[in-house]
Amino acid sequence: MKALVYTGEKELQYIDFNDPIRKENEELVKINSVGICGSDMHAFLGHDERRPSPLILGHEPSGVIIGGANDGKKVTVNPLVTCGNCRFCIDGRDNLCLTRQIISMPPREGAFAEYLSIPSNNLISVPDNINLEKACLAEPLACGWHAVRIAKESIKSEFENLKCLVIGGGAIGIGSALALKAKGVKDIFLAETNNLRHSQIKKTCEMIVFNPNETNPLKEGELDLIIDGVGIIHTREMASKYVSPGGLIIHIGLGHALNGLDIRRLTLQEITFIGTYTYTSKDFKDTAQAIFNGSLGSLEWVDVRPLSDGQKCFDEILTGNSPSPKIILKP
Ligand SMILES: [Zn+2]
Ligand SMILES: [Zn+2]
Repeated sequence: MKALVYTGEKELQYIDFNDPIRKENEELVKINSVGICGSDMHAFLGHDERRPSPLILGHEPSGVIIGGANDGKKVTVNPLVTCGNCRFCIDGRDNLCLTRQIISMPPREGAFAEYLSIPSNNLISVPDNINLEKACLAEPLACGWHAVRIAKESIKSEFENLKCLVIGGGAIGIGSALALKAKGVKDIFLAETNNLRHSQIKKTCEMIVFNPNETNPLKEGELDLIIDGVGIIHTREMASKYVSPGGLIIHIGLGHALNGLDIRRLTLQEITFIGTYTYTSKDFKDTAQAIFNGSLGSLEWVDVRPLSDGQKCFDEILTGNSPSPKIILKP
């Protein structure tokens, strides 16, 4: 099969690669659409020692099952492979599974390819009226969905009336903001430093977007809930400053490992900080349903490109020249 293979720092090659072999309890999926994620960028830059080259990246696929009893069925793929038996899996927190694997990290190849073998349990059927480009957004949107669910479970006051800030206008940030909207929250601000992305987010997601480096409509200490979808020093500084006394910071971004948080203010003002990672299998299913029933909006903020143009797309994201919050590649 053809695959887009990460072969070294800032280098991808669209080349012939071994076809995946379908294992027991797995299905072979012909990939239709697959999104580029921030963590793919991280690996592409050589910053992820868990993803050594040569490797097929990509963990946000949708496609069609090939062969077997389910031949021809449209599916979207939950890329987290979990054991089902450990205490976290049994507790419904399978995203913390002790032997968790994700496609695009050894021992599992990723989805920037024509085919993928994946456990049947990881597949969600996609209705006929939903295209596979939308369906592959289940993975990035599920991260925001999970974060918002955790926030809702943690906040005692009326969720709908909260004043919320989402930091980062990539798919994680947008997904969080759309999940907040779906849960009835009205007062949502989205901070994004790349002005190229603003008009598309405003138009297709109908929300207030601002560039915090230019103007800021918010006052320090007035946000009940802040979701950091970037996770760098600056964004944690911003979250620490703008969150209200007794408020909540939910941290999803994996930008910088250290620094930025004002622990003293968090302590004095009893601010809660929660880290969230990916989604449980239930969150993933709920997100897919929300995509299918339209409660996450039109989802027209994506840019669809051929897989063979992968290198160009990664370069565009790296230089900040991609106006879209999500590029989807088509094998
Ligand atoms: Zn992702
Ligand atoms: Zn487990």
